[in-house]
Amino acid sequence: MTLIIGKKVESLTQTLIEHGSDEVIFVENDRLEEYLVLPFTSIFTQLIKERNPEIALFAATTSGRELAPRIGMRTSSGVTADCTGLEIGEYISKKEQVIYTPILESRRPTYGESKLATILGFVCPQVSTARAGTFEVPERVVGRKGITTPFKPNLDEKDFVVEVIKTVRGEGGLQNLFDADLIVSGGRGTTTDSLGLIKQLAEALKSQGINAEWACSRPVVDEGITEYARQVGQTGKTVRPKIYIAVGISGAIQHIAGMKESGTVIAINQNPKASIFNNADFGIIGNYQDILPELIERVKSGYTFGLEAKK
Ligand SMILES: Cc1cc2nc3c(=O)[nH]c(=O)nc-3n(C[C@H](O)[C@H](O)[C@H](O)COP(=O)(O)OP(=O)(O)OC[C@H]3O[C@@H](n4cnc5c(N)ncnc54)[C@H](O)[C@@H]3O)c2cc1C
Repeated sequence: MTLIIGKKVESLTQTLIEHGSDEVIFVENDRLEEYLVLPFTSIFTQLIKERNPEIALFAATTSGRELAPRIGMRTSSGVTADCTGLEIGEYISKKEQVIYTPILESRRPTYGESKLATILGFVCPQVSTARAGTFEVPERVVGRKGITTPFKPNLDEKDFVVEVIKTVRGEGGLQNLFDADLIVSGGRGTTTDSLGLIKQLAEALKSQGINAEWACSRPVVDEGITEYARQVGQTGKTVRPKIYIAVGISGAIQHIAGMKESGTVIAINQNPKASIFNNADFGIIGNYQDILPELIERVKSGYTFGLEAKK
């Protein structure tokens, strides 16, 4: 079951069903065209109280991270934040002589990625947020049948104290990083030219019809060279492109956490002992300023790392 809130959202319900939802509940309201935390919290809470789901999941996006704890509080349950794995299981309490089922096993890295914690919630709904990009979007089955239900919440004027005057869409979400087939990612080693060659390689691939994007490691963001939206890693985005090219990135565990699900990893680094090579399928040892111009020329002549161009 999926809840969708907004203006003219009914047309999106079938797409959600085709991607695997059995029932899509929609709230159609012109005043909710933009996300507003108070009315959205109220709507989710009303629906949860009406339907009593065992589990409620949110994306660990900026809005999901804001919404989930409020809903956890209003429904007297807890929240497991930033999960990288979710499973349904059961828990046998010998002391209480009770079997809790279904129980949501929410997995998330802890202690700087050195441990994986499994967190169980015993109060329904069991609320968790999952990091965007962690799970694959289920394949679309065109024509799949499901239930579409309108929901009419009781909205309180008090929840509309915040008025959205203007919306400026920046790179904040940078959705394309999740969808890209190939990501060229620059680390501290590529700040000499402010990631100029990284961007040129991504552009050359795009002009060959490849769904390519560029990203970076955390120091590049910390140094103010790029926006946080492009950071890959434990405190950035989790991506899973078919090909990830890590240039001038040492391979710290916090970076690996965000790209380890990539299909093929190509590492370019001048230090042959850099740990990124332990996580790479192909490695090129050398200065990126010598290697990238050559790669860019090859791409311009039609080389696409084996990826098929979009028609
Ligand atoms: C709690 C926490 C969360 C974190 N979250 C993240 C995160 O989300 N994402 C993230 O990336 N990091 C994160 N970090 C930081 C992480 O620990 C590393 O410090 C960071 O990933 C290192 O970035 P880097 O590889 O770009 O830089 P460095 O470790 O400095 O590596 C630079 C690399 O470039 C190579 N190099 C230098 N010059 C050249 C050249 N001319 N040609 C080719 N190679 C060259 C060097 O040999 C070196 O291997 C986090 C850290 C902590 C503690």
